[in-house]
Amino acid sequence: MSRLDAIISRIEQARLRFSQHHIVHLVAVSKYTTDAKILELYNQGQRAFGESKVQDLEAKQQELNDYPLEWHFIGNIQTNKINKLIDLEPTLIHSIDSLKTAEEFEKRLRVKGKKQKALLQINSANEESKSGVSPKEALDIYQQITSTSTHLELVGVMSFGAHTDDQKAIQKSFETTRKIFDEIKDARFCSMGMSGDFELAIECGSNMLRIGSILFE
Ligand SMILES: *Cc1c(COP(=O)(O)O)cnc(C)c1O
Repeated sequence: MSRLDAIISRIEQARLRFSQHHIVHLVAVSKYTTDAKILELYNQGQRAFGESKVQDLEAKQQELNDYPLEWHFIGNIQTNKINKLIDLEPTLIHSIDSLKTAEEFEKRLRVKGKKQKALLQINSANEESKSGVSPKEALDIYQQITSTSTHLELVGVMSFGAHTDDQKAIQKSFETTRKIFDEIKDARFCSMGMSGDFELAIECGSNMLRIGSILFE
């Protein structure tokens, strides 16, 4: 069995533990890897890939332009890279981390006459080292963005699991984000779960995983 297939069966088991009706999307995080490795996964059926740096996204998109891949941007957003990122037209930006970032996107998207789908990043365990809005303010900020934006379209939320070995604390951080997701009418994607915690994330209701190291190492 390929590495990808082995991970897909683990996803499937966790999915069934959550709900038979649940659909889980897999974004293969290709930031550590080469074009050849991406094509290996492509040949096994994988289509969605994620990058965390704008310049890497640009390079990989160009090099793999002949293939019908779906590109996700999952990294921290620097204001001076927003125009470039918009021009690359990723399928989904996972990391809108503040009202201000959303406003910067909306302004530039309007000038360019473009639309962009994105997720609001929630700092679910209130960690200093992570960006994103606090769980307390998330719902308000989400609604503020959707009511004022016509070009940036929020379609859900994204989080990291708490950075700890304490499974209960990780679970709590996922549940915090899922609870906010459930309160948002029309939210479609709850992006959480990485190599070390994706099964727990699915059991807490994640429907979009961002998995890198265990797929490519
Ligand atoms: C690198 C990265 C991942 C993938 O992490 P792994 O532990 O390698 O699976 C997921 N999400 C974001 C935002 C990342 O930067």
